[in-house]
Amino acid sequence: MTNQETKEKYAELALRTGVNLQKGQALLINAPIEGAEFTRIVVRKAYEMGAKDVHVSWADDELSLLKYEHAPDEVLAAFPEWKVKLQESFAEDGGALLSIRSTNPDLLENIDPSRVAMANKAAAEALTNFRRYIMNDKITWSIISIPTGDWAQKIFPEASREDAITKLWEAIVKIVRVDREDPVAAWQDHNDTLKAAREVLNERKYNKLLFKGPGTDLEIGLPKGHIWKGGSAESEKGIMFNPNMPTEEVFSVPHKYHVNGTVASTKPLNYGGSVIDQFSLTFKEGKVVDVKAEQGGETLEHLLNTDDGARRIGEVALVPHESPVSQSGLVFYNTLFDENASCHIALGKAYPTNLEGGSSMDEEALDKHGINDSLVHVDFMIGSDQLDIDGVKEDGSTEAVFRNGTWALNIK
Ligand code: ZN
Ligand code: ZN
Repeated sequence: MTNQETKEKYAELALRTGVNLQKGQALLINAPIEGAEFTRIVVRKAYEMGAKDVHVSWADDELSLLKYEHAPDEVLAAFPEWKVKLQESFAEDGGALLSIRSTNPDLLENIDPSRVAMANKAAAEALTNFRRYIMNDKITWSIISIPTGDWAQKIFPEASREDAITKLWEAIVKIVRVDREDPVAAWQDHNDTLKAAREVLNERKYNKLLFKGPGTDLEIGLPKGHIWKGGSAESEKGIMFNPNMPTEEVFSVPHKYHVNGTVASTKPLNYGGSVIDQFSLTFKEGKVVDVKAEQGGETLEHLLNTDDGARRIGEVALVPHESPVSQSGLVFYNTLFDENASCHIALGKAYPTNLEGGSSMDEEALDKHGINDSLVHVDFMIGSDQLDIDGVKEDGSTEAVFRNGTWALNIK
């Protein structure tokens, strides 16, 4: 199943349906060095499709770890200017961005969390301008994953390295629909389904959503003019693309000041090279006022202390419990997959595109509409087969949106 042909199909899907590469366009790829073989297939296909230039920025978990172990604080606290320039120059030139994310979830578990937080914050600050290209869909971008050894063995601890990689390939290929006869067509169907779901929600214009499940009793206000999105997105230039593969969510923007109650995580969260697990957050008027965590509490505190906006939420996403990712029965320790198995919310920055007219508003105007800003945007999973969601309309009437983790609304 994970033969050359499958990899070719996956590479092609990432380029056509993912970033929707155009003739004469440049492409920037972030890729793990362990995935060099697959990445070279992507590069070859990109040129065959007419890319004018393809640049690969290699990531190497082992080198990252060595840096965290040995580099002085001042090096970790300063994100290199040339790395910012590289990404910004591709974006300014109208290039597309493909990120292949496959890190070892436990890579930095023995590194002082404050050093990791320092480096994450430096990177987030340095990339503020570049992030606008992404979060306002000014360019086409896509995130995919391929198996790497340490990551695969975290998911399949009993298997040998080689077997774990094979098993993870099999799981990914199924989840991203590369096992279908025509994956590009399968994604068109899938995007249509997500479009139908978001249209139903956009008609409802809920005032707020009420989440209830084990350890969760949370009210999330939605700002006037919020827009539900999901599946394919449209760039500023009108090119359709899929920001995430897989994607099973429809998502919108919460009101940053109207979130109250407690929410419990339902899956582990891999953040900055460590795992945060079994945690709950209590919100008052939109802000996290209490935190509990069984694992990774210190990392979670650092995340929340990044800036004011990191204590508020910027995304609410609905994913039915029977999504293909969920059906795999696996915990991936990789947000790209886990968020698509489960309803989730994100700490930090909201997508301005989730508000009518939001992409042309400045931060002050966005704040007036209740749209959150932060250096971070971190999804965490709150869905399960025991989650119920009610929608409250403008006139105060309430209806069931989700029951037992799946749609109660009639979504075609
Ligand atoms: Zn999401
Ligand atoms: Zn998100």
